[in-house]
Amino acid sequence: MAARSRRAVWHPCTQMKHHERVPLLPIARARGAWLYDADGRRYLDGISSWWVNLFGHAHPAINAALAAQLDTLEHAMLAGCTHAPAVELAERLAARTDGTLGHAFFASDGASAVEIALKMSFHFWRNSGRSGKREFACVRHGYHGETLGALSVTDVPLFRDAYGPLLRQAHCVASPDARLALPGESAGDVAARALADVAALFESRGDAIAAMVVEPLVQCAAGMAMHDPAYLRGLRALCDRHGVHLIADEIAVGFGRTGTFFAHEQAGIRPDFLCLSKGITGGYLPLSVVLSRDAIHQAFYDDDVARGFLHSHSYTGNPLACRAALATLDLFDSQDALAANQRRFDALAQALAGLAAHPRVAHLRRRGAILAFDAMIDPAAGGDFARRYARHALDAGALLRPIGRTVYLMPPYILDDEEIALLAAATVQALERTLDAPAVHRPTGTRA
Ligand SMILES: *Cc1c(COP(=O)(O)O)cnc(C)c1O
Repeated sequence: MAARSRRAVWHPCTQMKHHERVPLLPIARARGAWLYDADGRRYLDGISSWWVNLFGHAHPAINAALAAQLDTLEHAMLAGCTHAPAVELAERLAARTDGTLGHAFFASDGASAVEIALKMSFHFWRNSGRSGKREFACVRHGYHGETLGALSVTDVPLFRDAYGPLLRQAHCVASPDARLALPGESAGDVAARALADVAALFESRGDAIAAMVVEPLVQCAAGMAMHDPAYLRGLRALCDRHGVHLIADEIAVGFGRTGTFFAHEQAGIRPDFLCLSKGITGGYLPLSVVLSRDAIHQAFYDDDVARGFLHSHSYTGNPLACRAALATLDLFDSQDALAANQRRFDALAQALAGLAAHPRVAHLRRRGAILAFDAMIDPAAGGDFARRYARHALDAGALLRPIGRTVYLMPPYILDDEEIALLAAATVQALERTLDAPAVHRPTGTRA
Protein backbone atom coordinates (compact mmCIF):
# COMPACT_ATOMS: atom_id res chain seq x y z
CA MET A 1 0.00 0.00 0.00
CA ALA A 2 2.72 2.47 1.00
CA ALA A 3 4.71 1.69 -2.17
CA ARG A 4 1.64 2.10 -4.39
CA SER A 5 0.84 5.36 -2.63
CA ARG A 6 4.34 6.70 -3.33
CA ARG A 7 3.86 5.96 -7.01
CA ALA A 8 0.26 7.11 -7.38
CA VAL A 9 -0.26 9.86 -4.80
CA TRP A 10 1.59 13.15 -4.42
CA HIS A 11 1.34 13.65 -0.67
CA PRO A 12 0.73 17.13 0.81
CA CYS A 13 3.32 19.15 2.69
CA THR A 14 5.89 16.43 1.96
CA GLN A 15 9.27 16.04 0.30
CA MET A 16 8.33 12.76 -1.36
CA LYS A 17 11.93 11.54 -1.32
CA HIS A 18 11.86 11.40 2.48
CA HIS A 19 9.52 8.45 2.09
CA GLU A 20 12.41 6.41 0.71
CA ARG A 21 13.51 6.20 4.35
CA VAL A 22 10.42 7.08 6.38
CA PRO A 23 7.54 4.75 5.57
CA LEU A 24 4.03 6.10 5.02
CA LEU A 25 1.58 4.96 7.66
CA PRO A 26 -1.28 3.08 5.98
CA ILE A 27 -4.49 3.77 7.90
CA ALA A 28 -7.16 1.13 7.49
CA ARG A 29 -9.83 2.42 9.86
CA ALA A 30 -10.41 4.69 12.84
CA ARG A 31 -12.64 4.90 15.86
CA GLY A 32 -12.71 7.33 18.76
CA ALA A 33 -9.22 8.73 19.38
CA TRP A 34 -7.56 5.83 17.57
CA LEU A 35 -6.22 5.22 14.08
CA TYR A 36 -5.65 1.57 13.09
CA ASP A 37 -3.07 0.54 10.52
CA ALA A 38 -3.35 -2.33 8.07
CA ASP A 39 -1.81 -4.75 10.59
CA GLY A 40 -4.26 -3.77 13.31
CA ARG A 41 -1.74 -1.70 15.30
CA ARG A 42 -3.34 1.39 16.77
CA TYR A 43 -2.11 4.94 17.25
CA LEU A 44 -3.67 7.62 19.40
CA ASP A 45 -4.48 10.58 17.15
CA GLY A 46 -2.61 13.20 19.17
CA ILE A 47 -3.05 15.94 16.57
CA SER A 48 -6.67 15.33 15.58
CA SER A 49 -5.67 14.35 12.04
CA TRP A 50 -4.19 17.77 11.24
CA TRP A 51 -6.40 19.67 13.70
CA VAL A 52 -9.74 18.74 12.16
CA ASN A 53 -11.19 16.05 14.41
CA LEU A 54 -13.13 17.18 17.50
CA PHE A 55 -15.21 14.34 18.96
CA GLY A 56 -13.31 11.34 17.70
CA HIS A 57 -13.40 9.25 14.56
CA ALA A 58 -16.55 7.41 13.48
CA HIS A 59 -18.71 9.22 16.03
CA PRO A 60 -22.10 7.45 16.13
CA ALA A 61 -24.14 10.69 16.16
CA ILE A 62 -22.29 12.27 13.23
CA ASN A 63 -22.36 8.99 11.31
CA ALA A 64 -26.13 8.73 11.81
CA ALA A 65 -26.71 12.34 10.75
CA LEU A 66 -24.66 11.82 7.60
CA ALA A 67 -26.41 8.56 6.73
CA ALA A 68 -29.79 10.27 7.02
CA GLN A 69 -28.62 13.24 4.93
CA LEU A 70 -27.25 10.85 2.30
CA ASP A 71 -30.75 9.43 1.85
CA THR A 72 -32.28 12.91 1.60
CA LEU A 73 -30.05 15.21 -0.43
CA GLU A 74 -26.40 14.61 -1.18
CA HIS A 75 -25.80 17.85 -3.05
CA ALA A 76 -27.51 20.72 -4.79
CA MET A 77 -25.94 23.94 -6.02
CA LEU A 78 -26.20 26.93 -3.71
CA ALA A 79 -26.59 29.59 -6.40
CA GLY A 80 -30.28 30.00 -7.12
CA CYS A 81 -31.12 27.04 -4.84
CA THR A 82 -30.99 26.64 -1.10
CA HIS A 83 -31.39 23.79 1.39
CA ALA A 84 -32.02 23.22 5.06
CA PRO A 85 -28.52 22.13 6.13
CA ALA A 86 -26.88 25.33 4.80
CA VAL A 87 -29.59 27.60 6.23
CA GLU A 88 -29.62 25.96 9.66
CA LEU A 89 -25.84 25.97 9.87
CA ALA A 90 -25.63 29.64 8.86
CA GLU A 91 -28.23 30.55 11.49
CA ARG A 92 -26.58 28.55 14.25
CA LEU A 93 -23.10 29.92 13.55
CA ALA A 94 -24.45 33.46 13.54
CA ALA A 95 -26.15 32.78 16.88
CA ARG A 96 -22.76 31.72 18.24
CA THR A 97 -21.61 35.32 17.64
CA ASP A 98 -24.79 36.74 19.22
CA GLY A 99 -25.86 37.74 15.73
CA THR A 100 -22.94 40.16 15.21
CA LEU A 101 -21.56 38.07 12.35
CA GLY A 102 -23.68 36.25 9.78
CA HIS A 103 -24.33 36.11 6.04
CA ALA A 104 -22.41 32.84 5.92
CA PHE A 105 -20.43 32.50 2.71
CA PHE A 106 -19.49 28.85 2.28
CA ALA A 107 -16.46 27.26 0.62
CA SER A 108 -14.67 23.96 0.91
CA ASP A 109 -11.38 24.54 2.70
CA GLY A 110 -9.57 26.98 4.87
CA ALA A 111 -7.44 28.70 2.26
CA SER A 112 -10.55 29.46 0.20
CA ALA A 113 -12.17 31.08 3.23
CA VAL A 114 -9.15 33.36 3.60
CA GLU A 115 -9.29 34.23 -0.11
CA ILE A 116 -12.97 35.10 0.28
CA ALA A 117 -12.38 37.35 3.28
CA LEU A 118 -9.55 39.20 1.49
CA LYS A 119 -11.60 39.66 -1.68
CA MET A 120 -14.72 40.70 0.24
CA SER A 121 -12.79 43.28 2.23
CA PHE A 122 -11.22 44.82 -0.88
CA HIS A 123 -14.55 44.75 -2.73
CA PHE A 124 -16.34 46.31 0.26
CA TRP A 125 -14.00 49.30 0.14
CA ARG A 126 -14.36 49.54 -3.64
CA ASN A 127 -18.15 49.49 -3.36
CA SER A 128 -17.81 52.20 -0.69
CA GLY A 129 -15.82 54.51 -2.99
CA ARG A 130 -12.50 53.68 -1.31
CA SER A 131 -10.81 51.61 -3.99
CA GLY A 132 -7.45 52.91 -2.76
CA LYS A 133 -7.72 50.46 0.11
CA ARG A 134 -6.12 47.45 -1.54
CA GLU A 135 -3.29 46.36 0.76
CA PHE A 136 -3.32 43.77 3.52
CA ALA A 137 -1.52 43.42 6.84
CA CYS A 138 -0.60 40.14 8.50
CA VAL A 139 1.40 38.95 11.48
CA ARG A 140 5.00 37.69 11.49
CA HIS A 141 5.06 33.86 11.28
CA GLY A 142 1.32 33.78 10.58
CA TYR A 143 -0.21 31.05 8.42
CA HIS A 144 -3.38 31.36 6.36
CA GLY A 145 -3.19 28.64 3.73
CA GLU A 146 -1.43 27.73 0.51
CA THR A 147 -3.38 29.33 -2.34
CA LEU A 148 -1.75 32.43 -3.80
CA GLY A 149 -3.87 35.01 -1.95
CA ALA A 150 -3.68 33.18 1.37
CA LEU A 151 0.05 32.59 0.89
CA SER A 152 0.49 36.34 0.32
CA VAL A 153 -0.54 36.96 3.93
CA THR A 154 1.39 33.93 5.22
CA ASP A 155 4.84 34.42 6.73
CA VAL A 156 6.29 30.92 6.81
CA PRO A 157 9.40 31.05 4.60
CA LEU A 158 9.42 27.30 3.90
CA PHE A 159 5.94 27.47 2.35
CA ARG A 160 6.31 30.89 0.81
CA ASP A 161 9.78 31.47 -0.55
CA ALA A 162 9.54 29.29 -3.66
CA TYR A 163 6.50 31.25 -4.82
CA GLY A 164 7.68 34.73 -3.82
CA PRO A 165 7.53 36.14 -7.37
CA LEU A 166 3.87 35.12 -7.66
CA LEU A 167 2.73 36.71 -4.42
CA ARG A 168 1.33 40.14 -3.63
CA GLN A 169 3.43 41.87 -1.02
CA ALA A 170 1.62 42.27 2.33
CA HIS A 171 2.63 44.32 5.37
CA CYS A 172 3.98 41.94 7.99
CA VAL A 173 3.81 43.28 11.57
CA ALA A 174 5.72 42.16 14.67
CA SER A 175 4.72 38.91 16.31
CA PRO A 176 2.96 39.04 19.70
CA ASP A 177 4.36 35.56 20.53
CA ALA A 178 4.75 35.43 24.33
CA ARG A 179 8.02 33.52 23.92
CA LEU A 180 9.60 36.80 22.76
CA ALA A 181 9.31 38.24 26.28
CA LEU A 182 12.57 39.79 27.46
CA PRO A 183 13.60 39.11 31.07
CA GLY A 184 11.03 40.70 33.35
CA GLU A 185 8.47 41.15 30.57
CA SER A 186 4.98 39.64 30.65
CA ALA A 187 2.99 38.29 27.67
CA GLY A 188 1.00 41.52 27.90
CA ASP A 189 4.20 43.55 27.46
CA VAL A 190 5.05 41.62 24.30
CA ALA A 191 1.52 42.23 23.02
CA ALA A 192 1.87 45.97 23.72
CA ARG A 193 5.15 46.10 21.80
CA ALA A 194 3.61 44.25 18.86
CA LEU A 195 0.63 46.62 18.88
CA ALA A 196 2.95 49.61 18.65
CA ASP A 197 4.21 48.15 15.39
CA VAL A 198 0.66 47.86 14.06
CA ALA A 199 -0.10 51.42 15.17
CA ALA A 200 2.95 52.73 13.30
CA LEU A 201 1.93 50.85 10.15
CA PHE A 202 -1.65 52.10 10.30
CA GLU A 203 -0.47 55.69 10.90
CA SER A 204 1.52 55.61 7.70
CA ARG A 205 -0.50 53.25 5.46
CA GLY A 206 -3.96 52.98 7.07
CA ASP A 207 -5.62 54.72 4.11
CA ALA A 208 -4.27 52.07 1.74
CA ILE A 209 -4.90 49.02 3.95
CA ALA A 210 -8.15 47.12 3.47
CA ALA A 211 -7.77 44.49 6.18
CA MET A 212 -5.53 42.96 8.78
CA VAL A 213 -5.65 39.19 9.19
CA VAL A 214 -4.79 37.45 12.46
CA GLU A 215 -4.95 33.99 14.03
CA PRO A 216 -6.51 34.73 17.42
CA LEU A 217 -4.61 33.50 20.52
CA VAL A 218 -2.55 30.74 18.89
CA GLN A 219 -0.55 30.92 15.65
CA CYS A 220 -0.66 27.18 15.20
CA ALA A 221 1.50 26.59 12.13
CA ALA A 222 4.12 28.98 13.54
CA GLY A 223 4.73 26.30 16.18
CA MET A 224 1.84 26.94 18.57
CA ALA A 225 2.93 30.53 19.23
CA MET A 226 0.56 31.88 21.88
CA HIS A 227 -0.23 35.49 22.71
CA ASP A 228 -2.10 37.52 25.27
CA PRO A 229 -5.77 38.29 24.48
CA ALA A 230 -4.91 41.97 25.03
CA TYR A 231 -3.28 41.84 21.60
CA LEU A 232 -6.66 41.20 19.98
CA ARG A 233 -8.32 43.99 21.96
CA GLY A 234 -5.58 46.35 20.82
CA LEU A 235 -5.95 45.25 17.20
CA ARG A 236 -9.70 45.80 17.34
CA ALA A 237 -9.17 49.35 18.61
CA LEU A 238 -6.52 50.16 16.01
CA CYS A 239 -8.63 48.72 13.18
CA ASP A 240 -11.60 50.82 14.34
CA ARG A 241 -9.51 53.96 14.58
CA HIS A 242 -8.00 53.59 11.11
CA GLY A 243 -10.91 52.03 9.21
CA VAL A 244 -9.20 48.68 8.62
CA HIS A 245 -11.17 45.42 8.62
CA LEU A 246 -10.16 42.82 11.17
CA ILE A 247 -10.20 39.30 9.72
CA ALA A 248 -10.06 36.58 12.39
CA ASP A 249 -8.71 33.36 10.91
CA GLU A 250 -10.12 30.83 13.38
CA ILE A 251 -9.71 27.96 10.94
CA ALA A 252 -7.52 26.12 13.45
CA VAL A 253 -8.47 27.75 16.76
CA GLY A 254 -12.27 27.85 16.42
CA PHE A 255 -14.68 25.27 17.81
CA GLY A 256 -13.32 25.11 21.33
CA ARG A 257 -9.65 24.54 20.61
CA THR A 258 -8.54 27.45 22.83
CA GLY A 259 -11.03 26.78 25.62
CA THR A 260 -13.84 29.07 24.42
CA PHE A 261 -16.04 28.28 21.43
CA PHE A 262 -14.31 30.99 19.40
CA ALA A 263 -10.86 32.20 20.39
CA HIS A 264 -11.69 35.90 19.94
CA GLU A 265 -14.27 35.64 22.74
CA GLN A 266 -11.41 35.63 25.24
CA ALA A 267 -10.59 39.19 24.21
CA GLY A 268 -14.22 40.33 24.43
CA ILE A 269 -14.20 41.48 20.80
CA ARG A 270 -15.74 40.51 17.48
CA PRO A 271 -13.86 40.68 14.17
CA ASP A 272 -15.38 42.03 10.93
CA PHE A 273 -14.82 38.71 9.17
CA LEU A 274 -14.55 35.30 10.80
CA CYS A 275 -13.00 32.42 8.79
CA LEU A 276 -13.87 28.91 9.97
CA SER A 277 -12.99 25.44 8.69
CA LYS A 278 -11.07 22.38 10.01
CA GLY A 279 -13.12 21.37 13.11
CA ILE A 280 -16.35 22.73 11.63
CA THR A 281 -17.48 19.30 10.41
CA GLY A 282 -16.00 17.46 13.36
CA GLY A 283 -13.22 16.34 11.05
CA TYR A 284 -15.47 14.56 8.55
CA LEU A 285 -15.74 16.59 5.36
CA PRO A 286 -14.19 19.65 3.74
CA LEU A 287 -16.17 22.77 4.55
CA SER A 288 -15.30 26.35 5.33
CA VAL A 289 -17.26 29.51 5.89
CA VAL A 290 -16.74 33.24 6.20
CA LEU A 291 -19.08 35.15 8.50
CA SER A 292 -19.26 38.93 8.21
CA ARG A 293 -21.04 41.93 9.68
CA ASP A 294 -24.33 43.34 8.36
CA ALA A 295 -22.61 46.54 7.20
CA ILE A 296 -20.32 44.52 4.95
CA HIS A 297 -23.16 42.54 3.42
CA GLN A 298 -25.10 45.78 2.95
CA ALA A 299 -22.33 47.31 0.82
CA PHE A 300 -22.84 44.53 -1.78
CA TYR A 301 -26.65 44.58 -1.71
CA ASP A 302 -27.68 46.42 -4.87
CA ASP A 303 -29.49 46.19 -8.21
CA ASP A 304 -26.11 46.22 -9.94
CA VAL A 305 -24.79 42.66 -10.46
CA ALA A 306 -21.17 43.79 -10.44
CA ARG A 307 -21.54 45.19 -6.91
CA GLY A 308 -22.41 41.68 -5.71
CA PHE A 309 -19.86 39.16 -4.47
CA LEU A 310 -19.64 36.89 -7.48
CA HIS A 311 -17.13 34.41 -6.03
CA SER A 312 -18.13 30.72 -6.05
CA HIS A 313 -16.94 27.15 -5.64
CA SER A 314 -18.78 24.18 -7.15
CA TYR A 315 -19.39 22.41 -3.85
CA THR A 316 -20.30 25.56 -1.90
CA GLY A 317 -22.50 24.65 1.07
CA ASN A 318 -22.49 20.92 0.35
CA PRO A 319 -25.42 19.44 2.34
CA LEU A 320 -23.45 16.46 3.65
CA ALA A 321 -20.70 18.70 4.97
CA CYS A 322 -23.24 21.11 6.48
CA ARG A 323 -25.08 18.20 8.11
CA ALA A 324 -21.85 16.93 9.68
CA ALA A 325 -21.30 20.46 10.99
CA LEU A 326 -24.80 20.59 12.47
CA ALA A 327 -24.28 17.23 14.19
CA THR A 328 -21.00 18.60 15.57
CA LEU A 329 -22.76 21.69 16.94
CA ASP A 330 -25.34 19.36 18.53
CA LEU A 331 -22.49 17.64 20.38
CA PHE A 332 -21.29 21.00 21.72
CA ASP A 333 -24.84 21.88 22.80
CA SER A 334 -25.76 18.57 24.41
CA GLN A 335 -22.64 17.72 26.41
CA ASP A 336 -21.22 21.00 27.67
CA ALA A 337 -18.11 19.96 25.80
CA LEU A 338 -16.13 23.06 26.78
CA ALA A 339 -16.47 22.45 30.52
CA ALA A 340 -15.63 18.77 30.11
CA ASN A 341 -12.61 19.75 28.05
CA GLN A 342 -11.37 22.09 30.74
CA ARG A 343 -11.10 19.13 33.12
CA ARG A 344 -9.73 16.79 30.46
CA PHE A 345 -6.96 19.13 29.32
CA ASP A 346 -6.14 20.14 32.92
CA ALA A 347 -5.42 16.45 33.46
CA LEU A 348 -3.28 16.21 30.32
CA ALA A 349 -1.35 19.34 31.36
CA GLN A 350 -0.89 17.82 34.81
CA ALA A 351 0.45 14.61 33.29
CA LEU A 352 3.04 16.63 31.34
CA ALA A 353 3.89 19.13 34.08
CA GLY A 354 7.17 17.34 34.83
CA LEU A 355 8.53 18.47 31.48
CA ALA A 356 8.78 22.02 32.83
CA ALA A 357 11.87 20.93 34.75
CA HIS A 358 13.37 18.95 31.85
CA PRO A 359 16.80 20.40 31.00
CA ARG A 360 16.12 20.22 27.24
CA VAL A 361 12.56 21.57 27.28
CA ALA A 362 11.59 25.26 27.04
CA HIS A 363 8.31 27.15 26.95
CA LEU A 364 5.94 24.42 28.13
CA ARG A 365 2.65 26.15 27.35
CA ARG A 366 -1.06 25.65 26.97
CA ARG A 367 -4.13 27.44 25.68
CA GLY A 368 -7.32 25.48 26.20
CA ALA A 369 -7.01 22.18 24.35
CA ILE A 370 -3.60 22.94 22.80
CA LEU A 371 -0.39 21.99 24.64
CA ALA A 372 3.14 22.56 23.38
CA PHE A 373 6.80 22.79 24.30
CA ASP A 374 10.05 23.45 22.47
CA ALA A 375 12.95 20.99 22.45
CA MET A 376 16.25 22.74 23.13
CA ILE A 377 18.08 21.72 19.99
CA ASP A 378 19.71 23.62 17.18
CA PRO A 379 16.72 25.20 15.36
CA ALA A 380 18.39 24.35 12.05
CA ALA A 381 17.98 20.67 12.95
CA GLY A 382 14.26 21.13 13.57
CA GLY A 383 13.03 19.27 10.48
CA ASP A 384 15.16 16.26 11.25
CA PHE A 385 14.09 16.36 14.91
CA ALA A 386 10.43 16.47 13.89
CA ARG A 387 10.69 13.46 11.58
CA ARG A 388 12.59 11.35 14.10
CA TYR A 389 10.26 12.39 16.93
CA ALA A 390 7.25 11.36 14.85
CA ARG A 391 8.75 7.88 14.31
CA HIS A 392 9.46 7.43 18.02
CA ALA A 393 5.96 8.63 18.89
CA LEU A 394 4.44 6.02 16.56
CA ASP A 395 6.56 3.37 18.27
CA ALA A 396 5.10 4.59 21.57
CA GLY A 397 1.55 4.39 20.17
CA ALA A 398 0.75 8.00 19.28
CA LEU A 399 0.48 9.99 16.06
CA LEU A 400 2.37 13.24 16.73
CA ARG A 401 4.00 15.57 14.21
CA PRO A 402 6.20 18.26 15.73
CA ILE A 403 6.55 21.56 13.87
CA GLY A 404 10.32 21.93 13.76
CA ARG A 405 11.46 21.64 17.35
CA THR A 406 8.01 22.41 18.76
CA VAL A 407 6.21 19.34 20.04
CA TYR A 408 2.49 19.88 20.45
CA LEU A 409 -0.60 17.96 21.45
CA MET A 410 -3.98 18.78 19.98
CA PRO A 411 -6.00 15.58 20.49
CA PRO A 412 -9.77 15.16 20.04
CA TYR A 413 -12.08 16.21 22.88
CA ILE A 414 -12.83 12.66 24.04
CA LEU A 415 -9.74 11.24 25.76
CA ASP A 416 -10.42 9.22 28.90
CA ASP A 417 -7.98 8.99 31.81
CA GLU A 418 -6.19 6.00 30.36
CA GLU A 419 -5.76 7.68 26.97
CA ILE A 420 -4.49 10.85 28.64
CA ALA A 421 -1.87 8.84 30.52
CA LEU A 422 -0.87 6.98 27.36
CA LEU A 423 -0.55 10.17 25.31
CA ALA A 424 1.53 11.87 28.01
CA ALA A 425 3.79 8.83 28.34
CA ALA A 426 4.25 8.57 24.57
CA THR A 427 5.09 12.27 24.37
CA VAL A 428 7.83 11.96 26.97
CA GLN A 429 9.16 8.63 25.69
CA ALA A 430 9.44 9.95 22.13
CA LEU A 431 11.26 13.03 23.42
CA GLU A 432 13.80 10.98 25.37
CA ARG A 433 14.46 8.63 22.45
CA THR A 434 14.81 11.49 19.97
CA LEU A 435 17.20 13.45 22.20
CA ASP A 436 19.19 10.34 23.16
CA ALA A 437 19.98 9.43 19.58
CA PRO A 438 20.91 12.60 17.82
CA ALA A 439 21.03 12.31 14.05
CA VAL A 440 24.40 11.52 12.59
CA HIS A 441 25.31 14.27 10.17
CA ARG A 442 27.82 13.45 7.47
CA PRO A 443 28.69 15.63 4.55
CA THR A 444 26.69 14.37 1.59
CA GLY A 445 28.60 12.22 -0.84
CA THR A 446 30.97 10.61 1.66
CA ARG A 447 30.76 7.03 2.81
CA ALA A 448 31.78 5.85 6.24
C1 LIG B 1 -5.05 25.06 8.16
C2 LIG B 1 -5.16 26.53 8.18
C3 LIG B 1 -5.54 27.24 7.04
C4 LIG B 1 -5.77 26.58 5.69
O1 LIG B 1 -6.82 25.67 5.71
P1 LIG B 1 -6.85 24.53 4.57
O2 LIG B 1 -8.15 23.85 4.79
O3 LIG B 1 -5.67 23.66 4.85
O4 LIG B 1 -6.75 25.23 3.27
C5 LIG B 1 -5.68 28.60 7.14
N1 LIG B 1 -5.46 29.24 8.30
C6 LIG B 1 -5.10 28.60 9.42
C7 LIG B 1 -4.91 29.36 10.67
C8 LIG B 1 -4.91 27.22 9.39
O5 LIG B 1 -4.50 26.58 10.48
